[in-house]
Amino acid sequence: VTDPHPPDALLALRDALREFVAERDWKQFHTPRNLAIAISVEAGELLEPFQWLETGRSPELSEAARARVADELADVLSCVVRLADELDIDLPAAARAKLEQNRAKYPPDQVRGSARKYSEYG
Ligand SMILES: [Mg+2]
Repeated sequence: VTDPHPPDALLALRDALREFVAERDWKQFHTPRNLAIAISVEAGELLEPFQWLETGRSPELSEAARARVADELADVLSCVVRLADELDIDLPAAARAKLEQNRAKYPPDQVRGSARKYSEYG
């Protein structure tokens, strides 16, 4: 029988973050509102290493800037996982459901190679 909820990397990260928060008695600060704000703040920090670059692809992005991107991506992901945990949202299931919606919204034969929004094509 296949486990409908197999352990995966996100669940392991969720558990590690739970432990980190509990050890510091920080759950009191991790309200859904504060975590939603933290996601936005960290996403803003993610922009900084890209500021004033043409594309942000290597070799334009320095190793130091790439390391900063990794740091900020980790912050964003951690906040996303914490918020989903506080609201008891199954993040992988939510992401898969959204992917299915987008598959229906953007049929490959209609949108391949185009960045137009779904409302801009027939
Ligand atoms: Mg940060």
